[in-house]
Amino acid sequence: MYEVNMKKYKIGLLKGDGIGPEIVESAVRVLEVVGKKFDLDFAFTPYLIGGAAIDACGEPLPKETVEGCLNSDSVLLGAVGGPKWDTLPGNLRPEKALLGIRAAMGLFTNLRPAKLYPALKGECPLREDIVQNGFDIMIVRELTGGIYFGERGYREGKYGEEAYDTEAYSRMEIERIARVAFETAKKRRKKLISIDKANVLETSRLWRKIVHELASEYPDVEVSDMLVDNAAMQLVRNPSQFDVIVTSNMFGDILSDEASQITGSIGMLPSASLNEGKRGLYEPIHGSAPDIAGQNKANPIATILSAAMMLLYAFDEVEASDAIVRAVDKVLDAGYRTADLAHGGAALSCTEMTDKIIEVL
Ligand code: NAD
Repeated sequence: MYEVNMKKYKIGLLKGDGIGPEIVESAVRVLEVVGKKFDLDFAFTPYLIGGAAIDACGEPLPKETVEGCLNSDSVLLGAVGGPKWDTLPGNLRPEKALLGIRAAMGLFTNLRPAKLYPALKGECPLREDIVQNGFDIMIVRELTGGIYFGERGYREGKYGEEAYDTEAYSRMEIERIARVAFETAKKRRKKLISIDKANVLETSRLWRKIVHELASEYPDVEVSDMLVDNAAMQLVRNPSQFDVIVTSNMFGDILSDEASQITGSIGMLPSASLNEGKRGLYEPIHGSAPDIAGQNKANPIATILSAAMMLLYAFDEVEASDAIVRAVDKVLDAGYRTADLAHGGAALSCTEMTDKIIEVL
């Protein structure tokens, strides 16, 4: 009877390269423990991606991987890339697989939290008086449109060879990402800042117009605009003013990296990429860290928190997700650190940190 009542979820695993396999393994171990605690049955299926896929079958994103991900309830990704594949032509590079899987799964939203953990205030590169109140920002980035997907090319110009990239955004693309942002803000501190470059770009002017149109449907959310250059400054001057940020693909790419850096701990930050169905793909924001790969030194927390985001956003398993977040908080509060946060002091390995989190769970 007990087995029959368990909720079942099929999770595709894209371990990828470098530290990818180690950190995904950690998240799987945590999910298994949480599954037992909350009667959730996870079926994990690994698929090849990135350099590992190039080595095995000559391409970074095999057809079986795309099909497997589309047939999964949700997908957990480690990271791809490394020096071994850096000299391959662009369309065969591991990173190409990331754009490919995002497009194939229709992942038009990227949610990137940037939170300063009280226990890790010392990691923040900003002055103490700037971050005394901490900060907890959610960046909602458009992921499948804009300049990264626009028409591009080389041509002969007035002064010889030139290259061009173009940005286009449709009403549909702006409206759907803005709605995700308004809904996200509703569940948080109800403050949304839309970031654009409306003083220069037509796409930004359309973006701003549509965000303002939608605002009347979300009267409980306070919405304002900010130019991207100002936003880049404000993030380091006064990060606590931000709750939810919504912005285009390229601006979001840059600002979310800036926001992650002011937390001071790249190994801590998860992300979610969502499609219409809200299931989607979950991954740490960092890369494959080839410098520490295979040494059991990686911080698994970003990936473990990505699994927690999956439980929340893909499966609506709020309690199970909270349990993971609380366990991570407790372990950090108790002073446990992996090498990236230990400053040469006592450090836990990737598996030991995972063991500690499981112990608390
Ligand atoms: P990186 O994030 O892999 O590493 C930057 C630094 O942070 C390194 O010193 C690394 O050791 C450290 N670091 C990163 N994650 C860590 C963790 N969990 N625990 C402890 N330390 C950690 O960035 P990079 O060095 O610029 O890129 C390495 C490779 O990763 C490149 O091939 C790049 O293209 C790829 N990459 C992949 C993704 C992705 O898969 N989503 C994202 C970024 C970079």
